[in-house]
Amino acid sequence: ALAVSLRGVTKAYDNGVMALGPFDLAVRKGEFISLLGPSGCGKSTVLRLIAGLSAPSTGTVRVSRHEGVTRPGHAIGFVFQEPTLMPWTSVRENVRLPLKLAGAGKAEANARVDEALASVGLADFAGAFPRELSGGMKMRVSLARALVTDPDILLMDEPFAALDEITRFRLNNDLLALWRRLRKTVIFVTHSVFESVYLSQRVVVMTARPGRIGADIRIETVEP
Ligand code: ADP
Ligand code: ADP
Repeated sequence: ALAVSLRGVTKAYDNGVMALGPFDLAVRKGEFISLLGPSGCGKSTVLRLIAGLSAPSTGTVRVSRHEGVTRPGHAIGFVFQEPTLMPWTSVRENVRLPLKLAGAGKAEANARVDEALASVGLADFAGAFPRELSGGMKMRVSLARALVTDPDILLMDEPFAALDEITRFRLNNDLLALWRRLRKTVIFVTHSVFESVYLSQRVVVMTARPGRIGADIRIETVEP
């Protein structure tokens, strides 16, 4: 079954820039795919269309939940390159925000926040403030915030690009372990060939020609 499908999708921004298309992509439920390609080829545009943050100029974007088809934007967690945490509130409050917006009850919200923080290795940092955390830890908070609503689909836009190599590798390993446990659909935008091959089951290479896919490669796990 498909988690996401884009068919004949084009996107022209108001300034006339043809950012995408026509573009086709189908992602299966539980699949971890990477989008790779030069700056400006439309990777972020694809994520924004799937998230429902932007509407296609033509074509269709479909996102399905376990129960069936839903509007783009539902059932989605989004992690940006910048952790975009609220500086004046604790880690706990930052992670709780999406639940608050969804109107979750306090007891349930607390339990989910604790679970999300534990899943990214930050169980002991609920009371900390963003300024007290390293870049890698801020990214973990951002990931916990994306996971706290238990979305079916996780969209990640160059999430680790600003981190040092060792921190980045640790996060790669933890994300992979998390995916193996949770089996969410992940669409991961990166400029790193290593990261795309190491993390994902499938690498889609976009080209500088809007919407044109240069390669769509299945990666078989090399581990025993
Ligand atoms: P299943 O996995 O249940 O066999 P498919 O993956 O073949 O189903 O297709 C599920 C739905 O997605 C169908 O409605 C089909 O028309 C649509 N679909 C299939 N391939 C694509 C594609 N490449 N792009 C967009 N939508 C697709
Ligand atoms: P990528 O993520 O691959 O770097 P983007 O999807 O961000 O690519 O951008 C694709 C193209 O659309 C680029 O030419 C970019 O300058 C343009 N673009 C992106 N967002 C906007 C916007 N909000 N308004 C106008 N043009 C945009």
